[in-house]
Amino acid sequence: MTVGSAGSLRRLVTRSDGHPALVVPESGAVLSYAGLQRALDRAAGRLAAIGVREGDRVALAAANGPALIVAFLAVVASDAVAAPLNPTLGEAELTAELGDLRVSRLLHDGVASAVAAADRSDVPASVIGMAEGLLHIDGEAGSALETAGSPDALGLLLHTSGTTSKPKTVPIRQRNLVASTAAVADTYALSGDDVTACVMPLFHVHGLVATVLATLSTGGTVLLPRFRPSTFWDDAARHGVTWYTAVPTIHARLLTGTEVGGPLEHRIRFVRSCSAPLPTALWRRYEETIGVPLVEAYGMTEAAHQMASNPLPPRERRPGTVGLGTGTEVVALDDDWRPVPPGDEGEIAVRGPSVVDEYLDNPAATFAAFRNGWFRTGDVGRLSADGYLSLVGRVKELINRAGEKISPYEVEDVLLTHPSVAEAAAYPVPDEKYGEQVGVVIVLRGDATPRELTLYCAERLAAFKRPVRVTILDSIPKGPTGKIQRRNLAGLVGGGS
Ligand code: ATP
Ligand code: MG
Repeated sequence: MTVGSAGSLRRLVTRSDGHPALVVPESGAVLSYAGLQRALDRAAGRLAAIGVREGDRVALAAANGPALIVAFLAVVASDAVAAPLNPTLGEAELTAELGDLRVSRLLHDGVASAVAAADRSDVPASVIGMAEGLLHIDGEAGSALETAGSPDALGLLLHTSGTTSKPKTVPIRQRNLVASTAAVADTYALSGDDVTACVMPLFHVHGLVATVLATLSTGGTVLLPRFRPSTFWDDAARHGVTWYTAVPTIHARLLTGTEVGGPLEHRIRFVRSCSAPLPTALWRRYEETIGVPLVEAYGMTEAAHQMASNPLPPRERRPGTVGLGTGTEVVALDDDWRPVPPGDEGEIAVRGPSVVDEYLDNPAATFAAFRNGWFRTGDVGRLSADGYLSLVGRVKELINRAGEKISPYEVEDVLLTHPSVAEAAAYPVPDEKYGEQVGVVIVLRGDATPRELTLYCAERLAAFKRPVRVTILDSIPKGPTGKIQRRNLAGLVGGGS
């Protein structure tokens, strides 16, 4: 394993031969490891020249591609702090981000909202792009920079996905990133023979750590396709993709892609699912259609991504669980921070080298969630006696029917076994008698009436878990990382029953 041995990201990319590091299928552009090293040296030099210093916060607003990856690596290799932002945000949102994060520079790829936000907030901005395999960064030259390369240096500032409340900012140190990267690389035995397709955005840890850092640290190749289910399998076959990681929504869309163009001959050895619950019906359909293991993992921003994963065969992957801790201790706690026995539900807490120490500028949230190295995740789950973790929902999303806590995931899992149901999300419907009852919103892929779906649940779920309201929608709103925002659903379909 070559990930910065001292826990710093500076030497993450150790390979420097002609093996392809980054490939853009659409343009045919290939950046070899030798090219990547040159691009990084030059980019770090350019950052120094435009005045980026150790500890400076540098916002990045660019579409997935080699320029964003090289810029990110160059920023952290310079001991500055990268703050990747969603490049599809509007001008006002980006302006607010630049202020909140107190960045000293913005690197962007020319997107109009970023140009306008930089102007409005008076943050010096530079355009980045790849020219002849080198990162071009425009801007006035300043003085050179000295760096310390400390594992304790902040490497990354990221927002949580904002699924349960206003996004919190997570200060991730270089050693956190290195530990999470190593956990991913070790769990799936990644090597220089692997080729991954990057289908997740690079402004969150899922794409950045599990796809890019895990691959570049082990000498493999990152394919950067424009995501389209209709061409994905073709690209994957042509470029010898051996694995990819994504949220369940993307796996479901790629299965639809197989009905159009594939599945073709492929070299895929496993697929990873993370960041949202993987319905068992989807897991089964995916494995049957594509014929490879689909392993579910558990990650979050506060742990620089991966905390647990199902192992690859021949070890047992257990559907409905997120597997075993991967270099992270995992416990289920009661409200007083005491571990509950195996099999009992509790709030999941984690501790380990990838877990951060605090939220940025948010002492109240830090006080509530961090204690003695442990971090309370806000997820409810239970651990089996042999360490497999099942998640039942988020503390804030459990449906509380007269004190009986109902897992939205369990209700959704049942509905998703119905052949006409493409997507399902359960949420609390305010109820005078019980406090809350179960409501569901459904996206159909065949014919079914709300009444039919209610009966379907009645045959498979205990009475108290059955939905009292079934609403059919064209689509279910999701956050920027592809997660269902259950807390918004009640508002979307109207008030109480
Ligand atoms: P916020 O903290 O702002 O509400 P968020 O928790 O969605 O947003 P992230 O850090 O991107 O922000 O996501 C981490 C969360 O994603 C976990 O706490 C968990 O709820 C969920 N998650 C990750 N992997 C899985 C999984 N395999 N199954 C179910 N949930 C998962
Ligand atoms: Mg969270």
